[in-house]
Amino acid sequence: MNVNDSEKVAGLLHADGYERTDEVDQADVVFVNTCAVREKAAEKLYHAVGRLKRLKARKPGLLVGVGGCVAQLQGAAVLERARSIDVLVGTHNIAQVPALFRRARERGGGPFVDLDRSADSFLVPSSAVAHSSPVRAYVTVMEGCNHVCSFCVVPRTRGPEVCRPPRDIVAEVESLVAQGYPEVMLLGQTVNAYRHGDVDFAGLLGLVHDVRGLGRLRFTTSHPQHVTPRLADALRDLPRVCPYLHLPVQSGSDRILASMRRGYTRAQYLETIARLRDRVSHLALSSDVIVGYPGETLDDFESTVSLVDEIGYDGLFVFAYSPRPGTTALRLVDDVPAEEKQRRASVLNARQQRAQLRRNAQRIGGREEVLVDTVPGPDRLAGRSPHFRIVHLAGPASLLGRVVEVEITGSGSNSLTGKLPIGSLTGASPAPIL
Ligand code: SAM
Repeated sequence: MNVNDSEKVAGLLHADGYERTDEVDQADVVFVNTCAVREKAAEKLYHAVGRLKRLKARKPGLLVGVGGCVAQLQGAAVLERARSIDVLVGTHNIAQVPALFRRARERGGGPFVDLDRSADSFLVPSSAVAHSSPVRAYVTVMEGCNHVCSFCVVPRTRGPEVCRPPRDIVAEVESLVAQGYPEVMLLGQTVNAYRHGDVDFAGLLGLVHDVRGLGRLRFTTSHPQHVTPRLADALRDLPRVCPYLHLPVQSGSDRILASMRRGYTRAQYLETIARLRDRVSHLALSSDVIVGYPGETLDDFESTVSLVDEIGYDGLFVFAYSPRPGTTALRLVDDVPAEEKQRRASVLNARQQRAQLRRNAQRIGGREEVLVDTVPGPDRLAGRSPHFRIVHLAGPASLLGRVVEVEITGSGSNSLTGKLPIGSLTGASPAPIL
């Protein structure tokens, strides 16, 4: 979602006459987008602004803007700590970025600030988004979150859930397909909680799936409480919906799950996975886990390890618990020492890497339908299978955006390597329909 927000800022600035540069020394404006979910991420803002302050000393006309969740969360405190900021916008005010930069340029002074969370966050027209990938386009379908997870700052930074009307989403996807994007990823903090009038998330998937010419449809992030039989049916029955689900579990211990206020038990989560796999046997699954949450004992941690083993995720993101302002977990004692959090994260990561290595090795000799999304170098390509597996292969840049069938010849823990079957180039589908 942060990437999508940055794409919106880039697109709006482009429409206002700016050109993109990868050389920060060349820039007239720099916009720093921020994440507040862990303290380390939030602190990155101040490192970035410190570097920009030194650049400003050499280049007095340079304007610096800051947006995203840290801006929303810390507001005036950001300006106190980083006085070189010219523009500060909250999570709902991206549409104001060009006007605020214009004011800063024309009037000087500042900082110019808009942190109004009652503003409509969907104001940025889809035509203004500067997509960072030529293949995968993000479409935000809902903002905010209604959950009350004890550790999470997101409801505070992005506010309660607001869902976009389905017709706006479908129109945006139609326009993306017309522009040549083969893959669309629907975004929301709890995307499967989407509801607008009679249209639930499975209904939305059906509407978007039916957009003519769309190649692949993905979505993230789903919450276990909103996995419905209708969603499982959609994953099974809609061929362009990729068989991949990111379903953060956070912990395998009932005690910790209750304290986190996740709204499910270990058994219920496992039951959800079983029901999904019942309908979609080849479904790929990934998850997020927090280690070192307040009060997490070694037994609790072992419960998480055993849950991860039992499910056999295709991908796992492990985070060390970070106390966040305004969250209810802040009232708990952060009693797992930092080194122990890191140790638990390393144990889980190493275990997951070994499991992925084993599972990926089993794919050697098979075939994957790869949508080529990157050209890392001459005659080098990379892409994703429907199950979101990264596949590296040799081939011409002209295959970017095309679906090719790849013979898998090698594997690592995080990716596969393969080759195009002899004579296959003529068979690569020009329109990337699966
Ligand atoms: N609502 C989205 C979701 O459920 O995926 C986004 C949440 S956050 C951007 C992504 C992950 O960060 C969460 O699933 C959780 O594992 C982790 N996270 C959130 N708050 C955290 C905290 N205070 N400390 C450590 N990790 C955290």
